[in-house]
Amino acid sequence: MSSAETKNKETRGFQSEVKQLLHLMIHSLYSNKEIFLRELISNASDASDKLRFQALSNPDLYQGDADLGVKLSIDADNNTLTISDNGIGMSREDVVEHLGTIAKSGTAEFFSKLSEDQSKDSQLIGQFGVGFYSAFIVADAVTVRTRAAGLNADQAVQWHSAGEGDYTIEDISKDTRGTDITLHMREDGKEFLSEWRLRDVISKYSDHIGIPVSIWTHEKDEEGKDTDQGKWEQINKAQALWTRNKSDISEEEYQEFYKHVSHDFSDPLTWSHNRVEGKNDYTSLLYIPAKAPWDMMNRDHKSGLKLYVQRVFIMDDAEQFMPSYLRFIRGLIDSNDLPLNVSREILQDNKVTQSLRNACTKRVLTMLERMAKNDEEKYLSFWKEFGMVLKEGPAEDMANKEKVAGLLRFASTENDGAEQSVGLASYIERMKEEQDKIYYLTADSYAAAKNSPHLEQFRAKGIEVILMYDRIDEWLMNYLTEFDGKQFQSITKAGLDLSKFEDEAEKEKQKETEEEFKSVVERTKTYLGERVKEVRTTFKLASTPAVVVTDDFEMGTQMAKLLAAAGQEAPEVKYIFEINPEHPLVKRMADEADEAVFGRWVEVLLGQAMLAERGAMEDPSQFVGAVNTLLSKV
Ligand code: ADP
Repeated sequence: MSSAETKNKETRGFQSEVKQLLHLMIHSLYSNKEIFLRELISNASDASDKLRFQALSNPDLYQGDADLGVKLSIDADNNTLTISDNGIGMSREDVVEHLGTIAKSGTAEFFSKLSEDQSKDSQLIGQFGVGFYSAFIVADAVTVRTRAAGLNADQAVQWHSAGEGDYTIEDISKDTRGTDITLHMREDGKEFLSEWRLRDVISKYSDHIGIPVSIWTHEKDEEGKDTDQGKWEQINKAQALWTRNKSDISEEEYQEFYKHVSHDFSDPLTWSHNRVEGKNDYTSLLYIPAKAPWDMMNRDHKSGLKLYVQRVFIMDDAEQFMPSYLRFIRGLIDSNDLPLNVSREILQDNKVTQSLRNACTKRVLTMLERMAKNDEEKYLSFWKEFGMVLKEGPAEDMANKEKVAGLLRFASTENDGAEQSVGLASYIERMKEEQDKIYYLTADSYAAAKNSPHLEQFRAKGIEVILMYDRIDEWLMNYLTEFDGKQFQSITKAGLDLSKFEDEAEKEKQKETEEEFKSVVERTKTYLGERVKEVRTTFKLASTPAVVVTDDFEMGTQMAKLLAAAGQEAPEVKYIFEINPEHPLVKRMADEADEAVFGRWVEVLLGQAMLAERGAMEDPSQFVGAVNTLLSKV
C-alpha cells in the first residue's frame, strides 16, 4: 500500500449550496469579519455540551467538567490562528456530512433570492446563519483536525480546503479528543493575529459561555518580542449566562448570548429571564427575535428551545416547550425536575413538559402584551415579522385564545393604509354606543377589502370595520368567535343587522319600500330559480345596485377559496342575492315590462355582485351578452 492509500486521502467537491454560501459570505460579510470567532467559539462550546451529554451514558468519555475548554493560539510566523476544543469531535463521516454540505432544505431556493446587493445580503445571510463556513471570511485556507470522543488516536481525520470548489480529507493521528481548526489568514484577516485584537473579540463573544476560553500569551523578551515561553490565560468568566443573577448581566451580554443560541446576527427585540422554584424548578431564558428566520414557514423548519437538565445540555430544538404559533421564540430552558436521560419521546407526554410549556407560553404572551402596551412601534415591527404565525394561535391554543386575540393586529376602515396596526381592544374602545359586535370583512387583498360594496352602509353610519386580507384570516375567524364578550360579525353574512343604527322613521320608510319592491324580488327569483339560495331587498348599500352574501353558518367565499387552493373539495357556496331598491339601475330594472329584458338586467346585476365578491364569475360570456343587449337599447 502506498502512503496515500494508508492515509485514505480523497478530494471531494462541495455541495453547490456550500459553494454559493462561501462566495456570498466572503463578499457580503467583509465589514463584519470578527463574527467568525463568535461562530467558531460557539461551535466549540456546543461540541463540549454534546460531549457532556454523551458522557451521561458513557462516563469513560471524559474526566469531568474541569477538563473542558476552548483554546486559541496565534502562530504569527505562519500567519495562522488555531481554535481548539476538546469536545465531542467528528468522525470521518461526520466531517463529510457537516463540513461539505448544508443539510437544511430550502437552502438553494433561499440563496437564489439573494441579490447582487451585498449590503442587503449580509442581513439575509445573517438570518440564515453561516456557522463553520464563516472561517473563510478571514482565511484563505482552513485545516480541521478532529478526533471523535471514544475513537483512538489513529482514527482522527484532517479536512482541508481553500474555500473554493473542493476539500481534501485524510486519516491522521491526533493525540487528543476534539477539534483543532487552523485558519490560514488572508491579508485582511491578519488583524486577528494580534493578541490584543483577539482578546478584545473573544471577551465580547465568549463571556456567556459555560466553559473557559483561553488564549496563549507569549512572554516577551527585553525588546518586547514574543519568546517561546508563555501561558494559557482565561479570557471569559466561564459561567453559563442563564445561571447568573439577572442584575449582574448586561444588555450586551444578553444580546451576545442570543446570537450564540439562535445563530442569528441581529439583536433580539426583547427577552425574559426567569428562575422559578416551587412546584417546578427551572430557569428559562426566552428571546423574541427581531427578524423572522428565512425558513419559518417551511414545513421542516427547526424550532424550539435548547433543553438543559441541571445545567447539562440535553438537546437542541426541543419544540415541546412552545406551541407551534410561537415557534419563532429562541432561547433555553434548564430544568431540575426532568431526568438527565430524558428523550424526545419521554418529553412528548410528560407532566413536567406540559407545565413548563404552559408557563413559557404565558411568559411569552405577557412579554408581547407588555411590548404592545409600552412600545407600539416595536410591537408593530414584531407584528410585521411574526404576525402571520401568531394568527395560528387562536386555533391552536384554546386556553390562551383571548390573550392571543388581544395581540392580533389588523387593517381597518379607521386607518388609510394596508398596515395591520389596529388591535381589537382599541377597536372596542371606538365602538358606537349601540354597537355590540365587532364587524369585519375578509377579502383577497387590501384593495378588494377597502373597495368592497359591503362597506357602504358602514361608511355612511361611521361604523368601523376590520379589514382582513391575509390568506389565513378566514381560517382564523373560524376559531375567533368573540373577544372581550363581543361577538365577531362578518359583514358579508346574511345575518348582518344594522337596524340598531337606524331611527324609526327610516325603518318605517324601508318597510314601505320593501313592500313596493316585493314583486321585483319575486320576478328575480322566478328568473334565477336554483342559481341562488334566495333573493331579497337590502338597505345596506348606497352606490352599489346589488351584492351577494352567504348565510351565517354557511361557508363564505374566502373559506371556499382557501379550501380550493389547498386542493380540497369545497361544497358550492350558496349565495343570497341582495338588491338595493334605491339604486337608479335597479329602478330601471323594476320598470322593465319585458320579462326577457328583465332577465338581462338580473344577469348584469348578479354578474357584478359575483365579480365584486369573488373576483371572478362563472359564465363571463353570458354576462357580456347581457350587458351588450342592454347597451344596444340605450
Ligand atoms: P451549525 O452549528 O449551525 O449546525 P455549522 O456550519 O457551524 O452549523 O456546523 C455544522 C456542524 O459541524 C455542526 O452542527 C457540528 O455537528 C459540526 N461541527 C462544527 N464545529 C465543530 C466542532 N468544533 N466540534 C464538533 N463538531 C463540530
